[in-house]
Amino acid sequence: MRRNIIAGNWKMYKTTQEAVQLAESLKKSISLVQDVEVVVCPPSTSLLSVYEVIKDSPIKLGAQNIYPEKEGAYTGEISPAMIKDVGCEFVIIGHSERRKYFHETDELINKKIKLALSIGLTPIVCVGETLEEREKGVAEDTVINQITNGLVGISQEDMLKIIIAYEPVWAIGTGKTATPDVADGMHLVIRTQLSKIYSSVVSDSISILYGGSVKPDNIDILMSQENIDGALVGGAALNSESFSRIVQFKK
Ligand code: PEP
Repeated sequence: MRRNIIAGNWKMYKTTQEAVQLAESLKKSISLVQDVEVVVCPPSTSLLSVYEVIKDSPIKLGAQNIYPEKEGAYTGEISPAMIKDVGCEFVIIGHSERRKYFHETDELINKKIKLALSIGLTPIVCVGETLEEREKGVAEDTVINQITNGLVGISQEDMLKIIIAYEPVWAIGTGKTATPDVADGMHLVIRTQLSKIYSSVVSDSISILYGGSVKPDNIDILMSQENIDGALVGGAALNSESFSRIVQFKK
C-alpha cells in the first residue's frame, strides 16, 4: 500500500522564532488530517525547537541534508546521528539545489542514502532533469540514470524504506508546474525502472512525490494522478494556510 506523503522543504528560510511560529500554526490546522503523512523540513538551526512544538502532533520532522560520514573533522557539517538526535525521522537527499550549488554527485548521494538508512532515517531522494536536458530530449534518461546510480547497492528491504521525489529542476521555484500528465508519466518511468532493478513489490509499494511549484490550486489535480503519491513543497510550505490546504488535498 503506497503512503500519501506531503513534505515541506523550508530551505534557508525562517529564523528559529519564525520556524516555531509556523510549526505552531501548522500544528493547529493539521491536527485532524487523515490518510496522509505530513513532514516538515526546517533549517538545521530550528530542528530541535520545531520538534518540541510538533512532537505530540501527527506532523513529523525531516532535515534538508546530512554529511555522509558518521562523525569526524568535517567543519560545518551535520551527521545523520545528529539530526536523529533532535527528532528527525526523515532527510531530504540529493535536492537539485545541492546537486547544482554543492556539486553533489549520484555517488555522494548514494553514500548519504546508505548512511541515513543505516541509522533508521527515511531518505526522501530527489531526482529530476534540468530544462536543458528536457529540451535535448534526455529527461527520462537523466532521471533513470539518477535512480540507477543513486541506488547502487541498496537492498530491496532497504529500498522499501525510501521515498522518491521527482522534481523537474525547471519547475522548482519558478511557478511552472509540470502538467499532471508529464509528472505522472515520469513517475511511471521511475516505477518501471524500480521494477527492473528490484521487483514489482518495490515499484508497486514505493511512494513517489512530485515537487515543483506545488500550490493549493494545483495539488488536487496532481494528487488525482495514478502514480503521484504526494508532494515535496518549497515556497508554498512557508505559509501555514497554503501548506495546510495542500495537506488537505482532494483526489
Ligand atoms: C523544492 O524546494 O523542493 C520545491 C519543489 O520548491 P517549490 O515548491 O518552491 O518549487
